[in-house]
Amino acid sequence: KGSQHSGGPLTLPPGFTSEVYDEFIAAARQILGEQNVTVITDVAQLSLEHYTDPSKVHDMHNVVEKTYFVASAVLCPRDVKDVQDIMKLCNQFEMPVWPFSIGRNTGYGGAAPRVPGSVALDLGKNMNKILEVNVEGAFALVEPGVTFFDLHEYLVKNNLRDQLWIDVPDIGGGSIIGNAVERGVGYTPYGDHWMMHCGMEVVLPSGELIRTGMGALPDPSRPHPDGLRPDQVPGNRAWQLFNYGFGPYNDGIFSQSNLGIVTKMGIWLMPNPGGYQAYLITLPRDEDLHTALDIIRPLRLQMVLQNVPTLRHILLDAAVSGNKKSYTQKDEPLDDEELDAIAKKLKLGRWNFYGAVYGPEPVRKVLWSVIKEAFSKIEGAQFILPEETKDHPVLQTRSGTLQGIPSLDELAWVNWLPNGAHLFFSPIAKITGDDGMLQYSMTKKRCKEAGVDFIGTFTIGMREMHHIVCIVFDRYNKEKRDRAHWLIRTLIQDAAEHGWGEYRTHLALMDQIADTYSFNDNAQRKLNETMKNALDPKGILAPGKNGVWPSNYDREAWRI
Ligand code: ADP
Repeated sequence: KGSQHSGGPLTLPPGFTSEVYDEFIAAARQILGEQNVTVITDVAQLSLEHYTDPSKVHDMHNVVEKTYFVASAVLCPRDVKDVQDIMKLCNQFEMPVWPFSIGRNTGYGGAAPRVPGSVALDLGKNMNKILEVNVEGAFALVEPGVTFFDLHEYLVKNNLRDQLWIDVPDIGGGSIIGNAVERGVGYTPYGDHWMMHCGMEVVLPSGELIRTGMGALPDPSRPHPDGLRPDQVPGNRAWQLFNYGFGPYNDGIFSQSNLGIVTKMGIWLMPNPGGYQAYLITLPRDEDLHTALDIIRPLRLQMVLQNVPTLRHILLDAAVSGNKKSYTQKDEPLDDEELDAIAKKLKLGRWNFYGAVYGPEPVRKVLWSVIKEAFSKIEGAQFILPEETKDHPVLQTRSGTLQGIPSLDELAWVNWLPNGAHLFFSPIAKITGDDGMLQYSMTKKRCKEAGVDFIGTFTIGMREMHHIVCIVFDRYNKEKRDRAHWLIRTLIQDAAEHGWGEYRTHLALMDQIADTYSFNDNAQRKLNETMKNALDPKGILAPGKNGVWPSNYDREAWRI
């Protein structure tokens, strides 16, 4: 494993001497220029810890020692050719390289690499252009550094929001590419970002450049001067319109994987629906979760619920409005009575359902009446519109988020505890009352054992739900960190025993979760590793990402 070392980087990559490392850095500087290569020589370079000014080197929400998941240097390519040249160099030196777009990836490891001492490839710093916004086709083509804020601001500045909306996650500072390849979600009808991506340009581990889908077909009707590099040639006119192209569909192997570096990606934008109304439905009792999920499933499948709505536990909303100290002096997890008191104070329910209806007024009216009638089965349910109240700050924020307006408001819940950091536990389940209640009670029980408040939300997809549990801990307190780590490991195990798996995870849990996807003697992992070894024979690109290890690494030796 990476070793401490004086003079060179803080952490050398595995198998490197400082002399060979220095040779690599000198060659990287030749390619990228001095200003685009920073070696991490001092723990003081691991001091950033805020979302608004994120580290490109370490995990700001470290659940293991902060100095463990760290890069040895940050390389910032200026263009696609630089990316290709760096991949060739990494092959030559067998240097592990960890690409990211912005590197926020909050709750899942940030910019940090799986293998300590890897070089970080910061794609977003210099490669951050919105290459095209096409109104007629309702899509954008972007480079890695384009954030949700950037694209939204572009639409606003160019007076395009009356025609096109984007879809945003809870917090808008991440990259469109990073979020989509990690299969992140947002909350409009276009909430499944991977589903809505269309066409990619990818640098393979060898340094070769490909375009997927229709992008593989040259378009002679888009003439260009001779001598352009392949990455500069205009794409096929249907590249961002039809995902599949011809033959095997390749895009999937570049999602949550370590088989390529995405340098351009298309994303579908949502035509302005011509009207919009956000709403909140509060549900008073804990067990209302059961009834609510059985109400939600048919409505969502029929698309009466048009967007990705969320069913949030009271403490998630409470934590956005204030920290734990502002509600109680108690250290232990809050009990039912205390949760009821908080709900009363905030005029919320134990569960709070945030959704929206889209379309011209008659459409909205009819959808809203169906939704209202269905939820009226729950005794004490209240229906609240943002225009009618000043009391519900989360509703005001969600009203923006559900129409694709990015915000930073929801960063606040991480301050529930002092020095708050967080991990996400995010299993998938059927949208049924039975599944939801079982998953919730299992999670709540383990949270209690760990001395942690349950803070969570159910995010309703097309046919399943992501249960997002926010495990908040004090990042300066080793005992609390260890408890959070114990909690998530235990939850992953419990979930697997019920047949539930997570959709995404933090660096420290990747191997454990990959182990749970074990059908037929881990046949899927064998396939992934066969592809890994074929496309990346030196095992340089993000080794260990999501439990996929190249043959020159010993998985067992790298377990956390
Ligand atoms: P965010 O957009 O939230 O800041 P990151 O940029 O950190 O997130 O991306 C999250 C993860 O997605 C990275 O750790 C990496 O595994 C993967 N990723 C991000 N951008 C790319 C890319 N351009 N090519 C390949 N993988 C990427």
